Amino acid sequence: MKIDILTIFPSMFHGALTESLIGKASKKKILDINVVDIRSFSKDRHKKVDDKPFGGGVGMVMTVQPLYDAIKSVGVKKKNSSYKNPYAKPCVIYMSPQGKTLNNEILKNLSKFKHLVLVCGHYEGTDERIMDYIDEEISIGDYILTGGEIPAMVLVDSMARMLPGVVKEESSVTNDSFYNGLLDYPHYTRPAVFKGHKVPDILLSGDHKKIESWRQKESYKRTKERRPDLLKK
Ligand code: SAM
Repeated sequence: MKIDILTIFPSMFHGALTESLIGKASKKKILDINVVDIRSFSKDRHKKVDDKPFGGGVGMVMTVQPLYDAIKSVGVKKKNSSYKNPYAKPCVIYMSPQGKTLNNEILKNLSKFKHLVLVCGHYEGTDERIMDYIDEEISIGDYILTGGEIPAMVLVDSMARMLPGVVKEESSVTNDSFYNGLLDYPHYTRPAVFKGHKVPDILLSGDHKKIESWRQKESYKRTKERRPDLLKK
């Protein structure tokens, strides 16, 4: 999958995209992530990408021209261009607190695209006219961050787990919380006793059927206690 991230702070992505599973997925060519500096498209002689809001008011607004040119530079055609396979069309996503709240269903759907373009906003917001080139607005929750970079990292990291080959064992993904509407079961590793606290006996029994059934029950119990809303769904 190709992912273009459009930002005015490209260096924020170093580390987040080069380490751990995401770094490995890039090395294995499962992900091809390209960070694009929106500022390099500014036609202003000081490479400005913000301006005062029309109508007055506090703060600055991200200007439309550099962002438009950055979107075009990564191969995005008109919003309504037709493609035989809808997932072959690049999906342009504006990270925005006003968008759909990110969840597992959205991630599963995004993981089917061949090309994602993530736009990171800043300031009070972005000139609304850029919305003509945006397919989806996605939020990571009902709170405000200073910019769209951390939300874009959250999206890439959580979506990449859904791609075959990124996580070694597919069952680690399908057993994860939310994948099938339940929270994950509790995990334990050595030592079998820590400060008098023992691992549940069943996990040391070697009886895989019983362990599986215990894990399912624990998963259901946790969901009922902590997130009953998931069971209602
Ligand atoms: N004035 C805007 C509003 O109230 O909707 C918030 C602007 S915020 C300071 C600057 C940028 O950070 C946004 O344009 C967006 O790209 C990003 N951002 C902030 N909070 C976010 C969230 N919860 N989810 C996704 N992106 C967010």
